[in-house]
Amino acid sequence: MPKSIPSADGSRLSINTATLRVQWKLADIIAGCARRNIRMISPWRDQVAAMGLKEAARQIRESGLKLSGYCRGGMFPAIDGKARSAAMDDNKRAVDEALTLDAPCLVLVVGGLPRDGEGRIASKDLPGAREMVRDGIGDLLEYARPAGMPLAIEPLHPMYAADRACINTVAQANDLCDELGAGLGIAVDVYHVWWDPALKAQIERAGGYQGRLMAYHISDWLVPTTDLLNDRGLMGDGVIDLPLIRSWMDAAGYGGAHEVEIFSNHWWKRDPAEVLAMCIARHEMAS
Ligand code: ZN
Repeated sequence: MPKSIPSADGSRLSINTATLRVQWKLADIIAGCARRNIRMISPWRDQVAAMGLKEAARQIRESGLKLSGYCRGGMFPAIDGKARSAAMDDNKRAVDEALTLDAPCLVLVVGGLPRDGEGRIASKDLPGAREMVRDGIGDLLEYARPAGMPLAIEPLHPMYAADRACINTVAQANDLCDELGAGLGIAVDVYHVWWDPALKAQIERAGGYQGRLMAYHISDWLVPTTDLLNDRGLMGDGVIDLPLIRSWMDAAGYGGAHEVEIFSNHWWKRDPAEVLAMCIARHEMAS
C-alpha cells in the first residue's frame, strides 16, 4: 500500500450478505456480523424473503446493525409492456422493502437485452435496451422519490452487458443521474469498474453532486478469473489497487460504507466465521 494512503477505517466495513449466502442464512449472518462488531450489512431480497421482511427488520434493528444498501432492484428491459409492468411492480415492492429495512438506498442492477417468455435473449438492440433502462428508472423514481428511497445505479462490467446490466461505466450512470435528477445515484463496485481509464474522473464528477455516490463495493479481480460470476477475490488477492480507488472516493466526498461483496465458489466453501475474520483483516490491510 502506498504510504500516503492510510489504512481503511474498520467502522466503515459492511458485509454484503451474498458473501456468506451459501454457508449461512440471513439470521446467522446478522448474528455473525454483530458478534464481530461489524456495524453494517447489505442484504439481498431472496434472503430477506426467506426470513420474512418484518422479522429481518426486527433482528437487524435489535442487533444494532444498519444497512449500507439493499440488493436489489432493476432488470428493466422486457420484451413487451406486460413484462415491463410486471418488472415495475416488483421494483416498487423492492422500494417498499428497502423502506421497511431502513436502507439508505436500493441498488439497481438495471438489466441487459430483453428476453422472451422462455428466458431467451430476444433482441440485439442494445441502444434500445438502454432506453428501456432510462425509462424504467425514470418511472421507478416517480415512486421512490416521494417515498424517500434513493436509487443507486450499479454499473456492471461489460461482460454482463447482454444478460445483467447494459449500464457498464460510471460515466453512463452519471449521464443517467444528470438526465433523471434527484433521488438517483451510483453504487461504485470496484470489481465492475476498476479497468475503466475514466474511473477517477467519473468518481470526481459524481462527487460534484451531493449524495450521488451512494455505495462502494469491494472485492478483487483474480488472474486468471475462472468464472464470470462467482470467482471474485478477497481484497488483496488480485490486481485492483483498492487503496487508490478508495482515495478517489474519499477525495470525492464519499463518507459511506466499504461493502465487501464476494461471489466466490472458493470462499463459499470456507468456514463462514473464518471468511468474516478474513474480510475484517483484509479490509484494514488491503482496501
Ligand atoms: Zn456490487
